[in-house]
Amino acid sequence: MEISEHFHSTFGYSPTLISGAPGRVNLIGEHIDYNGGDVLPFAISELARAAFGARTDSKIRLASSQFPGEIIEADTHILTPLYGQMWSRYILGVFWAVGSARLAHGFDIYIDSSVPIGAGLSSSAAVEASVAYGLNEYFHWNMSMPDLARICQKAENDFVGMPCGIMDQSIALMATEGHALLLDTRTLASQQIPFDLAHHGLELLVIDTRVHHELVDGGYAERRDSCEKAAEILGVATLREISREEFESRKSELDATTYLRAHHAVTEIERVHRAVDALAAGEFEELGELLNQSHHSLRDEFTVSCPELDCAVETANAHGALGARMIGGGYGGSAIALIKSVDAENIKLKIEGAFAKSGFIEPHFFTALPSAGAQIIQQG
Ligand code: ADP
Ligand code: MG
Repeated sequence: MEISEHFHSTFGYSPTLISGAPGRVNLIGEHIDYNGGDVLPFAISELARAAFGARTDSKIRLASSQFPGEIIEADTHILTPLYGQMWSRYILGVFWAVGSARLAHGFDIYIDSSVPIGAGLSSSAAVEASVAYGLNEYFHWNMSMPDLARICQKAENDFVGMPCGIMDQSIALMATEGHALLLDTRTLASQQIPFDLAHHGLELLVIDTRVHHELVDGGYAERRDSCEKAAEILGVATLREISREEFESRKSELDATTYLRAHHAVTEIERVHRAVDALAAGEFEELGELLNQSHHSLRDEFTVSCPELDCAVETANAHGALGARMIGGGYGGSAIALIKSVDAENIKLKIEGAFAKSGFIEPHFFTALPSAGAQIIQQG
């Protein structure tokens, strides 16, 4: 069913505006967006859509195809962090971050998304960006995409309570088709980097392991704290501000775990720039090698991989991939493999076989093509 029909059957009238924003794959630069480095994500073709109906009062009513049977009610004037069901906070948080002074009235909103949830493809930012972009269009705020990204990040950090960086929201809002986005996570300055794999007979295979392992040590926050601690000890605002040479020369100032976490960040920041150079030169073997180095660093130094992700990466590489790595926060979610298009079917079969042999659940596959960012799908 189309989102406008969902909206109609839920709220009893037709929406006035439908916006959309995509999920993303980060080609390289993992766990870097909170370390001040550049990252290199691109948008995928899977989208979150938000259908808006204007109300005359200040109420908000929310429904989502992915969380059927619930309608969440709120009021733009009395939103406080953590209000509502978990899923609704990503949307209410955007209203809260925008501020009630900017909202002349409330809305009925229906969300329908094809971005798989929790697969490391950023379904959360896709939802936030679709709502923020739609509101910006509806009210003619003319806010810049970096400003909208910061609103979405504030929603997720402070209303949902997830201390995420700024990458996912930025790419969802700023992507252009056929390009990856070189994004400076400190300033949100960005540059579109041509990324046309098909032209070279290549593609990027996404392997969704469909697992998510909960870690006892609160994994993401611990990694982030380690990086911030290293920056503080080394006297820099972020790990972006220290050269690899200086970092190595001051190794003795850090305890072993902090050194390893920070070493991942410092080397990964460097790898992003080498990947941009490799893309400019059309050196895809080099790009593949950088993906492998990134995976090893995430697995051995940041220790955020898991057996399923390692299996996907190793099997892809054993059967002709140019390189592969886990993406996203870790402990599950997805891996990417840079492969020759002709090898795609065989690599999928081999990964399926390896997963079955290890007793893992069946992975899902799809091909990621650099796609457009947030957009208005229907108006009026
Ligand atoms: P991801 O890597 O997919 O972004 P997160 O844990 O950051 O994983 O975000 C997933 C959460 O975002 C979901 O559990 C849900 O709360 C919210 N979310 C994602 N997609 C939707 C949707 N279509 N409708 C409502 N909430 C959604
Ligand atoms: Mg997310």
